[in-house]
Amino acid sequence: MTDQTTEEAALEPASERTEALTGFAALGLNDELLNTLDGLGYEEPTPIQRETIPHLLGGHDLLGQAATGTGKTAAFALPALQSIDTTIKAGPQVLVLVPTRELAVQVNEAMFKYGRELGIRVVPVFGGQPIQRQLRALDRGVHVVVATPGRAIDHIGRGSLVLDSIRTVILDEADEMLDMGFTDDIESILESTPDDRQTVLFSATMPPRINSMAKRYQRDPVRIKIGRGDAETGPEKLVRQTIYVVQRSHKASLLGRLLDIESPQSALVFCRTRIEVDQLTETMNGRGYRAEALHGGMDQNQRDRVMGRLRDGTAELLVATDVAARGLDIDALTHVFNYDVPAAAESYVHRIGRVGRAGREGVAITLAEPKERRLLQNIERLTKQNITIAKVPTVADLRIRQLEMTINQVRESLASPDLEDYDTVLHALAGEDSDRNIALAAIRLVHAARGAVLDEREIPDASDRLRGGGSRKNGQSRDAKGRARNSGERDRSGSKGRRSGGAGTGFVHISLGRKSGVRPGDLVGAIANETGLSGRDIGPIKISDRYSVVGVPESDVGHVISTMSATTLRGKKAKVRRYTD
Ligand code: AMP
Repeated sequence: MTDQTTEEAALEPASERTEALTGFAALGLNDELLNTLDGLGYEEPTPIQRETIPHLLGGHDLLGQAATGTGKTAAFALPALQSIDTTIKAGPQVLVLVPTRELAVQVNEAMFKYGRELGIRVVPVFGGQPIQRQLRALDRGVHVVVATPGRAIDHIGRGSLVLDSIRTVILDEADEMLDMGFTDDIESILESTPDDRQTVLFSATMPPRINSMAKRYQRDPVRIKIGRGDAETGPEKLVRQTIYVVQRSHKASLLGRLLDIESPQSALVFCRTRIEVDQLTETMNGRGYRAEALHGGMDQNQRDRVMGRLRDGTAELLVATDVAARGLDIDALTHVFNYDVPAAAESYVHRIGRVGRAGREGVAITLAEPKERRLLQNIERLTKQNITIAKVPTVADLRIRQLEMTINQVRESLASPDLEDYDTVLHALAGEDSDRNIALAAIRLVHAARGAVLDEREIPDASDRLRGGGSRKNGQSRDAKGRARNSGERDRSGSKGRRSGGAGTGFVHISLGRKSGVRPGDLVGAIANETGLSGRDIGPIKISDRYSVVGVPESDVGHVISTMSATTLRGKKAKVRRYTD
């Protein structure tokens, strides 16, 4: 196992790591890809990228355990793209199999983004999109196909996807694909590719079924595991740590609201890339905060100047990548914000270690997206702490906090020795209104001077989609998932589904059954692909000769009916309606 080295490397104080060992160039990537990464603002590889890229460039098979958000996509995409011979115009050379339509879109976008400079053509192939469009795209010649297994099988059957030129097959989120009933499809796809291909398998968990698939289809794979850490050095207790969960589009508003509520003396905001640093700095300045970007290229003098501006209050917050923040004089900091959950749990520890020093209290706030559940779990495991997930502050919370701050300000002012100097003002106004009203008017000025109460819009809290209750793929709780993994209800054949069919489950009737060749995997695959539900949300399933009945979360019944009515199952249109016993 190579994970030990990864953890050690990541735990080294960042400033002591030598640049020569950290860059993407040291991993053996070519100039075009290095240019692209530079353009994207990626400053250094994440642990999984550092661990996997050299092996993959060396042509080895690889079995990797890593979650979304660790930089896994670039880890497999970059070497695969580098291996492509763009002068060959035959069929695709790289095939990526993913469980869901959403992931197909994401991986497709990433492959396109990373491969653009190399002139690489990528086509996504998934259910729910008109097949004609995919046929045309495949026909024009492609280098990379990103597909869900069901749709890939469809195309292989039609002859529109020929896998003879495949050099690399990547199975992403393999455990999820097996859970969704795609085992047969994956095996038959792998068997249609050349024997001497490179096979890369990524999975968030490593149940025995993944290992046996690796045994059958991989040759002596390098094993990599990222994200599980056992470091003893937890962050200081003096750091108050909180997580907020929102969709990406609400993050800037949330950061603003938290700055208003926390009113930090000095804050450092971490982003993943230089480009995000620049964008966020601009956004926050546009919203009236005094933010400065801290760049990796700055020399010590420039850094000192920026820190000086933070210290004297000219700047309220610094926005930086991990690399740019190395070697900062950190004493002045009271707050660290993780604008993104760091891809490596160890970075989290480094980041928040910048506050709460020398007995001072510090605050570390992380803005997470619902899909980043696993990354948060990794951090909790590494730090051996549960980090509080707090509700996003509402407009009312903000108001209360702002009034509190005004009260404190007035209280401090009451204690100042020069109060009498203002007696003339009170005297001048005294005849015009009551003392009470004069005091209120003055308080109003104090309140407004702080720029209070401008923010009127509620920010939707998405924490329920992170920790269970949510019906989407990434919205499950650890418990729910753990239970599902341990129960004997994973076999979806017949009516013994993973869900009990209890309260909260609604049923849909689909007018195709065994006679049309429908199998449980088709139903789960199609519903999951088309609706974005997780395989684990679907079931129990009953397949009769002429129809099927499938349990789905009650709240999704309407959505499942409308989407499944608009698509095909085993090449046939189905009538879909609610089923009531
Ligand atoms: P993934 O785990 O592949 O879904 O990646 C998570 C996010 O991290 C994506 O938004 C990537 O664009 C970003 N990312 C991947 N690698 C790096 C890197 N080395 N530096 C900064 N951002 C990265």
